[in-house]
Amino acid sequence: MKNQGPNHSANSAGSRPQTGAIHATFPCDTQFNSVMPPIYPSSNFSFDSMGVNKGYDYTRSGNPTRSMLESTLAHLEGGIDCICTATGMAATGAILHLLRPGDHVITGDDIYGGSYRMMHSVFSNYGIEFEFIDMTDSERVAAAIRDTTRLIYIETPSNPLLRLVDIEAVATLGHQAGAMVAVDNTFSSPVFQRPLDLGADLVIHSTTKYINGHSDVVGGAVISNSAELAEKLRYTSNACGLSQSPWDAWLVLRGVRTLAPRMQVHNSNALAIAEFLQSHPAVSRVYYPGLPDHPQHALAKRQMKGYGGVVSFDFRTPMDTERLDSFFGKLRYFALAESLGGVESLIESPFFMSHASMPEEARRGAGISEGTVRVSAGIEHSRDLIDDLSNAL
Ligand code: PLP
Repeated sequence: MKNQGPNHSANSAGSRPQTGAIHATFPCDTQFNSVMPPIYPSSNFSFDSMGVNKGYDYTRSGNPTRSMLESTLAHLEGGIDCICTATGMAATGAILHLLRPGDHVITGDDIYGGSYRMMHSVFSNYGIEFEFIDMTDSERVAAAIRDTTRLIYIETPSNPLLRLVDIEAVATLGHQAGAMVAVDNTFSSPVFQRPLDLGADLVIHSTTKYINGHSDVVGGAVISNSAELAEKLRYTSNACGLSQSPWDAWLVLRGVRTLAPRMQVHNSNALAIAEFLQSHPAVSRVYYPGLPDHPQHALAKRQMKGYGGVVSFDFRTPMDTERLDSFFGKLRYFALAESLGGVESLIESPFFMSHASMPEEARRGAGISEGTVRVSAGIEHSRDLIDDLSNAL
């Protein structure tokens, strides 16, 4: 099979994400000069003659619409290639498929519950050993490294407690040990954090979240910075059938064009909400890396250009599903829903909802309790969001 990677190679759109998101792969329609990229919803592409085609043969292996999205995301993250997958979990799975029995993986103890589940309950059945540790302390990461460590899988900021991992320090440790270093950059997007610039080898996205931004598609992406990893990932995506449909790729391509301005509003709304919650008597703790008293605020300032749109908090009094329901039910603008990163504000209980796939002991060990609430600040007016929370609290 020929490598059906992006043939819309990123042009010189510049390094600013505002411009790159719109111009990285344009102009894209030389036939009619449409200003939006065309959709090619074709499962297969014909050959001019045996072995001669126009770069594509079958959409599982490659599709021109998906290629345009892949080039755009590779450009935004500063990578050399990207594969777009059906979901964010498929993106994480693509990386785990690169491992072999006997390999050891270090990751965080408060990563997204679905990533934990896939590692703990699926890939561990194939002889891969996963170690879930508090990665906020790079020395603990150093101590966990073994001869067999092949992957260090970082999620920063983590979901839902917004803990940070020092990407540069951990990437250095990983490379000294001969391990790949992957970063789930879903919460920050390349607008606020570019892990490849800090030494990571791979970046993962659930494009379902900020990259698409409109809660109307699920998708994922892996961006790589070496030809060797790019080739392996493309092979895996095709062999395992992980790739994203052209319709979904097109929607993400539309959504990503407004990524940069959306991220700025998510960020300012989340900061305003975090400051409000901090001053509220019903709240005992607020988790947001943009707050000066976040334990890793200095690292946040160093490795991020913005702090993102997710804020979590703990209620001061013990909570159960009934009390949470009564609080959620009073909200007008925050929908009770598990995802994040869309233009509309969402709220949820990680203990009972998004992280319920983690065993209770693991949830408690990571610091997630019945009273923990996660907020995804949308792009509505901050005053309306704060009034809404104030009223419900
Ligand atoms: N990574 C993070 C940080 C997430 O929050 C999620 C989903 O919530 C995923 C990965 C998985 O993405 P998807 O739901 O698109 O499969």
